[in-house]
Amino acid sequence: MSNLFVELKTPITGPYKQPTGLFINNEFVEGVEKKTFEVINPSTEEVICSVHEATEKDVDIAVAAARKAFEGEWRRVTPQQRGVLLLKLADLAEKNLDLLAAVESLDNGKSITMARGDVAAVVGCIRYYGGWADKIEGRTIDINPDMFSYTRREPIGVCGQIIPWNFPLLMLAWKIGPALATGNTVVLKTAEQTPLSALVFAQFVKEAGFPPGVLNIISGFGRTAGAALSSHMDVDKIAFTGSTIVGRTIMKAAASSNLKKVTLELGGKSPNIVFNDADIEEAISWVNFGIYYNHGQCCCAGSRIYVQEGIYDKFVEAFKKRAEQNKVGDPFHPETFQGPQVSQLQYDRIMGYIQSGKEQGARVVTGGNRHGDKGYFIQPTIFADVRQDMTIMQEEIFGPVCAIAKFSTVEEAIKLGNDTSYGLAASVHTKDLNTAIRVSNGLRAGTVWVNCHNILNHALPFGGFKTSGIGRELGELALANYTENKSVAVNMAGKLF
Ligand code: NAD
Repeated sequence: MSNLFVELKTPITGPYKQPTGLFINNEFVEGVEKKTFEVINPSTEEVICSVHEATEKDVDIAVAAARKAFEGEWRRVTPQQRGVLLLKLADLAEKNLDLLAAVESLDNGKSITMARGDVAAVVGCIRYYGGWADKIEGRTIDINPDMFSYTRREPIGVCGQIIPWNFPLLMLAWKIGPALATGNTVVLKTAEQTPLSALVFAQFVKEAGFPPGVLNIISGFGRTAGAALSSHMDVDKIAFTGSTIVGRTIMKAAASSNLKKVTLELGGKSPNIVFNDADIEEAISWVNFGIYYNHGQCCCAGSRIYVQEGIYDKFVEAFKKRAEQNKVGDPFHPETFQGPQVSQLQYDRIMGYIQSGKEQGARVVTGGNRHGDKGYFIQPTIFADVRQDMTIMQEEIFGPVCAIAKFSTVEEAIKLGNDTSYGLAASVHTKDLNTAIRVSNGLRAGTVWVNCHNILNHALPFGGFKTSGIGRELGELALANYTENKSVAVNMAGKLF
C-alpha cells in the first residue's frame, strides 16, 4: 500500500483502506510540500493516522483543476446527467453507510447511532439536490413588444467550500449538493480535526462518474489552506461554516481579493423558551436533545433555556434527572448518546466556560466536570439561575453546557430570546397556538421550532439572522447561492428604437 492509503479498523467494520491523500482531479495525491499531519481519536487521545496536508500551492493546483473542469468537460454535461451523477453518488454513500458512519465516529467521536443518522441525512441531501439539477429555471419577462427578454440561471464557477468538524460529512453534503446540482465545480477543505470520512467519500465521487476536477477535497489547516482558498483570485465563490470570527476573516479575504461571492453559516446561542402550559415531559426531552445532541457541538444548540416562573423549579429538577440519564462514553457502544468533544482545544475551551460559570455565581445543577480519565469527555452540565450578563449566557460554548433563567411574560421571553448578537435558531414550548405564533414571529432567528428542537431537513432552508450568517443553506433557497442570474434582452425589431 502506498503512503496514500493506510489500513485502519473500527470496532464495527473491521479493517478498511483509508485514503490519506489530497483528492484532486479524481486522484489521491501527496501535497507539493510533502507535509502530513496527525489525526487524533478523541475517545482515546491516540493518533489514528496521518493525512497529507494541503498548502497554498496545493490550493492553486486544486483550483486550476476545478477551473479546467468548469470550462471543459463539466460544461458539456447536461442538467439531467448532473442529476443522475448526484443520485449515483447518493446511492454509493447509502451502500457504504456503515463504513462512513464508523469512520465518522472514530474521527469525530460522535455516537455510532448519531453518525448513522448523519450519513442517512447525507444521502437524503445529495438525492434531494440530484432532483433539483434539471429544474433550475429562468423566466421570460415582457418589457416591450419588440423585445424578447428572459433570465437564465448560470453556475457561478469555481466554488471554495470550508467546513467544520462537528458534522464532517453532513456539512460536505450541504455544500456540494447545491453547488454541483447547479453546475459549479468545487474545492472543498475539510476541518483539520476530522478529515477522514470525506476522503472515504471522495472515492465514490470517482466511482459515480464525475469528471476529474469537478469535486476536489483537500485536508489542511485554516490559516494556510483555508486562507489561500478564501483569498484566491480564481475562486468565484466561497461558502463557509464555522465560527463567527473566522467568518469575518473570510469576508475580508473575499473583499480584498476578487470580491468573490460569500455565504456564511456561523455560530449561535439559541434560546429554548418553555411556557407554563407546555407538556413538561415532552419539553424536557426536546430541551435535552436541543443542547446535548452531538455533545452540544451544534451551531443551533439550544444553549439558553428560559423557563416561565410557574414551572421553573419543577422544570430544573426534572431536567436534571433527564440529563443525568444521558449515556456518556464509547461512541461505538450502541446505547451511547454522548461521546467525547472533538479535540483537546475544544475540551479546554468548554472547561474554561464551565469555570467562568462557577466563578460568576451560576448554580451548578448537574455536571461541571470531566467524565472519566481518558478522552475529551465532559459531563452533561446544567447551570441554573444564570443572569443575562454572565459569559455562559452570552457566548457560544459549543459543548454540553446550558444556562437556565426564569421569565414571566411573553414580551419578556421575546426580549430575552433576542438579547444576543446571534440569530440562528430558537424554540418555543407551549400548547397555546397564539403564544407559539406570537413568540415565533417576535424572535429574530433563521429557524424557530415549536415544541421541538434541532429538527433539520434538506428541504427546509437553514441559516442565520444577525451575526449567525449570510445566505441560506438547504432547500430551494440554497440554489440561489450557487447561481448567477443573467438577463438576456433580444431586439427583435432589428433596428434602433
Ligand atoms: P473555525 O471557525 O476556526 O474552523 C472551521 C473551519 O474554518 C475549519 O475548516 C478551519 O480549518 C477553517 N478556518 C480556520 N481559520 C481559517 C481562516 N483564517 N481562513 C479560512 N479558513 C479557516 O472553528 P474552530 O476553531 O474549529 O471552533 C471554534 C468555535 O467555532 C467553536 O467553539 C464554535 O463556537 C464555533 N464553531 C461553529 C460551527 C458551526 O457549525 N457554526 C462549527 C465549528 C465551530
